[in-house]
Amino acid sequence: MLIGCPKEIKPQEFRVGMTPDAAHEAVAHGHKVLIETAAGLGAGFTDDDYRAAGAAIAETAEQVFAEAEMVVKVKEPQAVERKRLRAGQVLFTYLHLAPDPDQTRDLLDSGVTAIAYETVTDRQGGLPLLAPMSEVAGRLAPQVGAWTLQKANGGRGVLMGGVPGVGPARVLVIGGGVVGTHAARIAAGMGAEVTVLDRSLIRLRYLDDVFGGQFRTGYATAGRTADLAREADMIIGAVLIPGAAAPKLISRAQLADLKPGAALVDVAIDQGGCFETSRATTHEDPVYDVDGIMHYCVANMPGAVARTSTLALGNATLPFLLALADKGWRQACADDPHLLAGLNTHAGKLTYAAVGEALGLPV
Ligand code: NAD
Repeated sequence: MLIGCPKEIKPQEFRVGMTPDAAHEAVAHGHKVLIETAAGLGAGFTDDDYRAAGAAIAETAEQVFAEAEMVVKVKEPQAVERKRLRAGQVLFTYLHLAPDPDQTRDLLDSGVTAIAYETVTDRQGGLPLLAPMSEVAGRLAPQVGAWTLQKANGGRGVLMGGVPGVGPARVLVIGGGVVGTHAARIAAGMGAEVTVLDRSLIRLRYLDDVFGGQFRTGYATAGRTADLAREADMIIGAVLIPGAAAPKLISRAQLADLKPGAALVDVAIDQGGCFETSRATTHEDPVYDVDGIMHYCVANMPGAVARTSTLALGNATLPFLLALADKGWRQACADDPHLLAGLNTHAGKLTYAAVGEALGLPV
């Protein structure tokens, strides 16, 4: 199969769909790989790295889309890219169709077979192609929160680990799933005093078993959340209610009770945010002040560390990519119900129920 990987064109997107290692493995499986020139530069991979892996370099995106039997990307295809898709071609990338009727219509019109990273499942009921980005965002959260806490950035001027004789920062993590667990580990590793709140006892038991001693856990009642928020230097919002907007766990009125200059890092901003005063920001202008409380609410946190994110995503997508290339999408999906769960459109038909429900389209 000829696998094509164009350069991402969405603003501020520096990741790339295939690493040189992924290209090397695909070539070893007998496939051809065509990478658009400079596609990997944002993640630190040169055309020569891809050539050394056995890939060919295309001068234009048009050539990649025209020749590829399967197109591998990171972000949903932009309007100009959607015009290049066709029936009989496989598209393997993040799509997030439910809130995006224009993209859905274009994919249906193109006839492309679109497999969405975000709806591929695993045996544990998780989302294996979303998890790496949650790991990245979680580990990044204390890092950006620590920067936000610095005086010059509007913060309290508190050092995460303190120093001998001076106590560390207090960090409250709300939500102990993938993001929250990784955030808590890194914050604790920086020397902060960390508490993780969740509403799932199963999750709290797991955290206590594995990390007891590194950070504390608590059940996330509104009262306990408010009490711990008052004492916190940094609050990391990491909740998720699948399929729903994030619940608002800290109100505007509560900001008056927080420590002046406290840092709120709302990782759940891509689901609307879990603080009432959160609004999405960008890497260019990530932090804003409401009532003396500094808010960091970047919706695409993994983009800040494009190389790590590309490598992490590549590790997770590679087995699926190889299955699709080796067997063809029909057989690969027939053999693996978790990959089949990723199928969103085929030959002009919507094949994913939740997208149909969200957009009022037949499935
Ligand atoms: P997850 O499902 O692994 O974890 C969410 C946790 O929140 C669960 O343990 C759940 O029990 C808990 N929870 C739900 N409601 C709660 C409440 N009211 N109080 C306390 N805990 C509650 O999800 P995840 O992968 O960790 O993702 C968390 C959020 O981060 C999601 O909104 C996700 O979209 C977002 N995210 C954002 C970025 C970014 O760049 N901003 C990147 C990755 C993920």
